[in-house]
Amino acid sequence: MKTRLFTLIVALTAATLLLTGCFSSKHATKGKKGDNTVLATEDPFKDTDEVTINFKNMKDKEWESPLDGAKVISPFGGKRPNHKGTDIKTKAKDKVRAAFKGTVTFSGQMSGYGNVVFISHLTGLETRYAHNSKNLAKKGDKVKPGDVIALEGKTGNATTEHVHFETRIGGQPFDSELIFDHKKNELRKVKLTAKKKNGTIDIKVK
Ligand SMILES: [Zn+2]
Repeated sequence: MKTRLFTLIVALTAATLLLTGCFSSKHATKGKKGDNTVLATEDPFKDTDEVTINFKNMKDKEWESPLDGAKVISPFGGKRPNHKGTDIKTKAKDKVRAAFKGTVTFSGQMSGYGNVVFISHLTGLETRYAHNSKNLAKKGDKVKPGDVIALEGKTGNATTEHVHFETRIGGQPFDSELIFDHKKNELRKVKLTAKKKNGTIDIKVK
């Protein structure tokens, strides 16, 4: 009788270990190191040539400054035509926050960007936060505006701690100053229109 009970306990323990092993290995595949795939972002031009995002209607709780109290140290484009983002700076390891609600489509390392987080929002809007000392959000995470997604750093192609903040629509980068007043750390009350013509995307705000 005792031997049977012992066998049962051994079998149960083995089964538990096996199951736990299965679950943890399955969990580990999500956003694992070296996973450099990016989740798909909605194509806003799938059924139309023109999309609009009305930031005028956005309530205060629907947006957040990506780096509160930051100063712009390098604008979009400018003297560096290939500069696809706005460089904003506070101090090392400061909290980097999701600008809008969305889904994390990438969290990892990428050439030039260093540690970077991509977030896909509604209407094909995407934001990217680069050079982080550490990424906190994981691929597939649903985030709210203001959620801390990373810590400020100088990984990748950066000489000082800052956040390279990128805004894109339909994959096309545009100046984040169009929708954010980085001096005031505020969202601008504007209506953004993106028109797709002959493969190029023209972005304007009113
Ligand atoms: Zn930059």
